[in-house]
Amino acid sequence: MANKDYYSVLGVDKNASEDEIKSAYRRLAKKYHPDLNKTPEAAEKFKDINEAYEVLGDPKKRANYDQFGSADGNPFGAGGAGGAGGFGDFFGGGGGFSDIFSDIFSAFGGGHGEKVRQRGADINIAVNLTFEEACFGCVKNITIGKQDKCTACNGTGAKNGREFSICPECNGAGRVRYQQNTLFGTTIREASCPKCNGSGKIIREKCAECNGKGVKKTNKTIQVKFPAGIDNDQTLRMKGEGNSPGGDGVNGDLNIRISVSPHKILIRKGKDLYLDLYLPFTLTLLGGKVDIPTLEGKYTLTIPELTPSGTVMRLKNKGVKELNRENRGDLLITIKAETPKSLDKQTKTKIQELAKEIGDNSYIKYNNFLKKM
Ligand SMILES: [Zn+2]
Ligand SMILES: [Zn+2]
Repeated sequence: MANKDYYSVLGVDKNASEDEIKSAYRRLAKKYHPDLNKTPEAAEKFKDINEAYEVLGDPKKRANYDQFGSADGNPFGAGGAGGAGGFGDFFGGGGGFSDIFSDIFSAFGGGHGEKVRQRGADINIAVNLTFEEACFGCVKNITIGKQDKCTACNGTGAKNGREFSICPECNGAGRVRYQQNTLFGTTIREASCPKCNGSGKIIREKCAECNGKGVKKTNKTIQVKFPAGIDNDQTLRMKGEGNSPGGDGVNGDLNIRISVSPHKILIRKGKDLYLDLYLPFTLTLLGGKVDIPTLEGKYTLTIPELTPSGTVMRLKNKGVKELNRENRGDLLITIKAETPKSLDKQTKTKIQELAKEIGDNSYIKYNNFLKKM
């Protein structure tokens, strides 16, 4: 799904309003809902539609996607763009999404009685990598402050994890149902139980460890593997490493925004590396050898005789490994002939003699230019 265009999945314009996106989603979700549409491709389509809507239906995720989620922009695909994960997520999806989804879902008679699991908040952090760490990949231990499930009460918030009773309002389901008129006619709608806030439990005695919250603040160190070829402004998403909502809810995600320190000489553009190599103009005329930096260390580059300024030399496979692929980019060296900062009188005379000796006729392009003038 990494390269899918969410806008075309929903059949809307890039500038579509929130309402246009919402109504396109409703129309398509109804058309491809697996309960109604038995064609083989319906399930896949339905999944794509949901994935697109989870991103485009959320202004923050949409802005992120617009900025970073272009075809090649984010190698982590929908996940990296702050988008949807697996299909299962949709049942537990946060906020607006689960609302709209449960509308449709209950309209078709599905999902009744299923307890919607709460989802913890995502944690967003930034990590700086050196140029080499990004090119070759690396493993780092990162400590984050997060909200974790309280182990003393197993997230229930009740003393010993036992001092609670089943909510009488929802019979422990955490959801209550009521009738509502919607786009699809009169439907039975489900919502989080107001009495127990969706937990299905009423606490009799609070857990002293977490004061009944079911969660505790902790510092957790996790090992993060940064893949070779990762680049500036990409986001690495670690599923389930975000905050816990407590209870039997699912953790949010940890989103790691990458920044990469520049190399002191080489310029990276995607998988290729670039070097503007300024050489004494005499060296470009006479040829010679010059050491240049590569990711593997020094490389001795041979400059052929009479190399014109602007010549691009390509060192195959000396670039950066492409993310999630085996191939590497190239190192492209642009030769630039540098003239001396100043000339003394004696040198100038020698060069004038040299110029006379070479003669204007030796320059093919210059002569073509003169002819056209
Ligand atoms: Zn507790
Ligand atoms: Zn309840």
